[in-house]
Amino acid sequence: MSGILTYALHYQGEFNKNSLGAVSEGAKLVKEIGGQAAAVVVGEGDDLTDEMCASLGEYGASKVYRARAPDGLAQPVVDVMAKVIGDEGYSYALFGGGLLGFEIGAGLTARLNGGVTMEVTEVKAQDGKLVAVRPILQDSAVVDVDYVEEPGIIIGRLNAFDTEESGEGSAEVVDVDVELEDFSTRARMVERGEQRGADVNIEDAEILVAGGRGLGNAEGFELCEGLAKALGGAVAATRAVVDAGWYPYAAQIGQTGKTVAPKLYLAAGISGAIQHKVGMQSSENIVAINKDQNAPIFEFSDLGVVGDLNKILPKLTEALEAKKGG
Ligand SMILES: Cc1cc2nc3c(=O)[nH]c(=O)nc-3n(C[C@H](O)[C@H](O)[C@H](O)COP(=O)(O)OP(=O)(O)OC[C@H]3O[C@@H](n4cnc5c(N)ncnc54)[C@H](O)[C@@H]3O)c2cc1C
Repeated sequence: MSGILTYALHYQGEFNKNSLGAVSEGAKLVKEIGGQAAAVVVGEGDDLTDEMCASLGEYGASKVYRARAPDGLAQPVVDVMAKVIGDEGYSYALFGGGLLGFEIGAGLTARLNGGVTMEVTEVKAQDGKLVAVRPILQDSAVVDVDYVEEPGIIIGRLNAFDTEESGEGSAEVVDVDVELEDFSTRARMVERGEQRGADVNIEDAEILVAGGRGLGNAEGFELCEGLAKALGGAVAATRAVVDAGWYPYAAQIGQTGKTVAPKLYLAAGISGAIQHKVGMQSSENIVAINKDQNAPIFEFSDLGVVGDLNKILPKLTEALEAKKGG
């Protein structure tokens, strides 16, 4: 059988938005190359009900493989996906990106001796095969990558694939028995950490308020947190402030941090270094507040405000709260 297998990550009874984007993308692509659009769901909890798994049909999956194995760690998922691909012969595995997607995709590539493309921003169907498009050279050019052998592993850039409800109803749910490799059980999840600043996952947040060294000190982040709360978003940070211990690494955006693409990225006291830019330049709207009118961030902002963030952020927060209150 040919087709595309995706991995659907879930947490507390809900699928991750990025994974749903991959499921939707896989469903769209099999219409062009043929075969089945399927998804793998892994977990040990009671939340993996038939109903929940079958709901991936609403995003276009026709079959869902459910495996009882530890979730949130890469190697058990690699074991499951390698077995399903080996038994059923899927031609491609598609991931929505994010740290776990990268790790599973890389592990699956090594296990199956496949070909892999990471940071993919678009997938095209050509002559019955998939071609992955990815930016290179710090996003100054794009290349088309095709696969000479199966399976082809495609790992999207975070939020590269849109979530689309196909209206095709529920998927068939199939339980898979997988014997985990010894090394896959040597790590276990002890605890999931919560993001400081907002109860929203930074990679899923539609609005991010990002702070840089211009905040002056760790306490300066309270201004970002206040505004993020008023906007219903999350807080992000530059490497300079993470290195200084002002904010956790989990919030770092950029070359050595996360890549995000929210609807709104509000950058306060951030100069706009290239290493920061590569992690946020795909945001739909970029608003920058900086007291230096020559700051590089203004070169790629949709709206630039030249001024002191200590005055602007509290006023903005106050105005938004007054609007909500009114
Ligand atoms: C290999 C490598 C990897 C890196 N990876 C990353 C990465 O992943 N992410 C990342 O972010 N960086 C990364 N960096 C660091 C990057 O080069 C920059 O040093 C960093 O992004 C700068 O952070 P910043 O904008 O907070 O600080 P600064 O560059 O110091 O900018 C502070 C800005 O705040 C403004 N400002 C000051 N006071 C105020 C005020 N009161 N009101 C308004 N504006 C004010 C200033 O005008 C200035 O523009 C990396 C560097 C290297 C070499």
